[in-house]
Parts: sequence; structure tokens; C-alpha cells
Amino acid sequence: MAKLAIDGGKQTKTKAFPKWPYSNEREIELVGEVFSSGNWWRMTGNKVKTFEQNFAALHNVKYCLGVTNGTHAIEIALTALGIQHDDEVIVPAVTFISTGSAVIYVNATPVLVDVDPETFCMIPEAFEKAITPRTKAVIPVHMAGHACDMEAICAIAKKHNIKVIEDAAHAHGGQCNGRMIGSYGDMSIFSFQNGKIMTCGEGGALITNNEDLYKRAYLIHGVGRPDRDRVYEHSVLGSNDRMNEFSAAILIAQQERLRAMNKKRDENALLLDSLLFNVEGIKPQGRKDYATLITHYMYMFYYDPNAFNGLSRKDFVDYLIAEGIPAFICFPVLSDTTFFKNNDFYGRINAFEQLASNDISNAKNVASNVVWLPHFTLLGDEQDISEIAAAIKKIQEAVYMK
Ligand SMILES: *Cc1c(COP(=O)(O)O)cnc(C)c1O
Repeated sequence: MAKLAIDGGKQTKTKAFPKWPYSNEREIELVGEVFSSGNWWRMTGNKVKTFEQNFAALHNVKYCLGVTNGTHAIEIALTALGIQHDDEVIVPAVTFISTGSAVIYVNATPVLVDVDPETFCMIPEAFEKAITPRTKAVIPVHMAGHACDMEAICAIAKKHNIKVIEDAAHAHGGQCNGRMIGSYGDMSIFSFQNGKIMTCGEGGALITNNEDLYKRAYLIHGVGRPDRDRVYEHSVLGSNDRMNEFSAAILIAQQERLRAMNKKRDENALLLDSLLFNVEGIKPQGRKDYATLITHYMYMFYYDPNAFNGLSRKDFVDYLIAEGIPAFICFPVLSDTTFFKNNDFYGRINAFEQLASNDISNAKNVASNVVWLPHFTLLGDEQDISEIAAAIKKIQEAVYMK
């Protein structure tokens, strides 16, 4: 019986996972060009423009706007779409905080709806059921890169005249029904934060096919100032959310490897699914037919302590980390965060009660039972993947021997 690494035994992992962020000479070359050009600002350089063209082309849309981060991208999209006080925006109950907090940032009310227990993505019927006369937008999140059912969501949104903002922070280059994720929504957002599958440390982007929305977003992200303005004309209220040339240089290089990395992660995720298939108490995120390219920002799975002699999820994660496998517990449902609990939505307690009254039991189940591994664990070779499965099996055996 192998001794657990947490108890001083030998680690299951025999070699390091690929490091993240990944970079090579290509990043250095492009960042060097920015350095020596002396153009460090998007208004004088060409790297942000090139990145925007490349990223729009990848997603088959007309316009892309590089911004400071994904959170700001959601705020800009909501503002460009005219979402404001008294409006409601429907979001999945389990997601990273920004999907919901951005809605509050524009003084609107986030309404939480349930997710599918297999894909962890918003249930279209739950979205439709939550619609009220105040509903102005919906933000489906492609969880871990598994596409939401965008055909169904867009059909419902169209019927009720609701705007769609895709939160594709996990889904760069992913697909739904063979169509690019991010090309369905009125606007879609991406994050390039350090852990994301394409990164420049901090960064974000908005994409859209709508010229008017693009122009509005452009103004908002640049303190309301039109392109090439030299007379300090500020036509709308905006903040400064501009991407700088260094970030864009890195992103140009990162995008060149995205396709190959997405493919690699999907192959390895399928392999890991098969290795964990017979492990009691472990059930990976499912895979619907319409999710034709899953980017796997995270490898997510349900963990059942009953199949691990009662070992808590938190301890399981610590045991995995000790075995050399980086792991995390899932984010809480938004309404369980301290911030949401303490927010009265500008005195509109009614809105909060409504928000809390939707059935979000699947989301609660995901939040309390899911464990995830970061995407770079899926960028390694077959040995890396088999060592992940071996570590889980080792822990399962050992907890019954203790
Ligand atoms: C990371 C993330 C964001 C926010 O992106 P930042 O660049 O970190 O601001 C938004 N939504 C989801 C689902 C995310 O995971």
C-alpha cells in the first residue's frame, strides 16, 4: 500500500506539469518590437490593432476591442447595451464573481438561474422562466469552455427582445454546433488573466458583429473620446480601460498556439475521462453533442466523499496537491458570497428576494461538490494524465487503510 504524500510518502507525480503561462522567443520578439518602436500606447502603435484583427478573425466576427481585463469587458458590454438602474440581467448562479458583480457595477440587478448538472452551464428553460418585464440581458457562461446551448438561449432571447452577452472567459477558440463561441451574442467577452488559456497577465476583449455597439464600446473604453480625437472631445461617459501595446504583443504570440493547445487539452481530457470512468465517487463534467470544441479552461469533476471514506472535499484537494496535482474547489454560488449576502441592491430588497427564490439547486450542488484541475495539467503527455488518475486512485485506496 502506497503511503500518501501528505503523510510523508512518495509523490505520485514524477515530473512537473508544463508551466503556465507558457511563452517562448515569439513573445520576446514581439514585445521587443514594442520596446524599440517607442510606441507603447494603442493610439500610436499597431500591436493592439493587430491583436484585435486576429482575435476577431479567429471568432468569425467583424469587430474586436482589446481592454484591460474580462471584468471591465462585461461592464463595458452592459453599458454599451444601455443596461442601467432597474434593469435585470440573468446570469448563471454558479460562475466567477465578475459575471454577477459587473451587473451591479452598472446599477442593474443580477438574477440567478440554475445550471445543467452535467455541463454546469445555464439551463435555457430556467433562463426563460426567470424573465420579467425588466429583463434586458442574459449572460450565459461557457463553463470551463463547454459551450452553453446557444441556439436555445438565443431563440428565447430573441422572442423576448433580450440582449445576449456571452461570457467566454474560459472559451477562447471554442465552438458550439461547429460555430465559434462568442459569435452568437450581441457582444461577447474574454479574459486574458494569468490563469486563462490565452494570457498576458491581465487583459480582456469584447467581440461583436454590430458596428454601432463596437463604436459605443470603443468610446466607453477610452474615456468617451473618439478615435484620433485631438481636441479633447468626450462624447459619452467612459472610463479608461485601454489595452497597452505590450499586452497585445504577448497575446498575438499566445493566439498563434491556441488552436494546437485547445486540441491537446481536449485529447487529454478525453483520456482522463476514460481513466476515471470506473472510479467510484468521481464524475467529470459531461459533454453535449453541441459542444463541438471544448477548450477545457478547467477539468471539473464531482467529488463524492462517501466513496472516499468520508474524506472532505477540502482535504481531498490538499491530498491531491501533496501528490503533485494542482487542484481547487469550485466557486460558490453567487448568492453565497459575502458580497452578495451584504448587498441590498440599492434598497431594492424585493429584487434580492426574487433573486433568492429561483431554484438553483443544481448550481448549489456543483458549488459544494465540484473539484477542478487547472488547464495546464491537460497540456502534458500521456504520463501526466495517467499520474492524475493514479493519484486519485491512490488517495481512494489509502483513506480506507488509515
Ligand atoms: C476570469 C473570469 C472573468 C473575469 O476576467 P478578469 O480578466 O479576471 O477580470 C469573468 N468571467 C469568468 C467566468 C471568469 O472566469
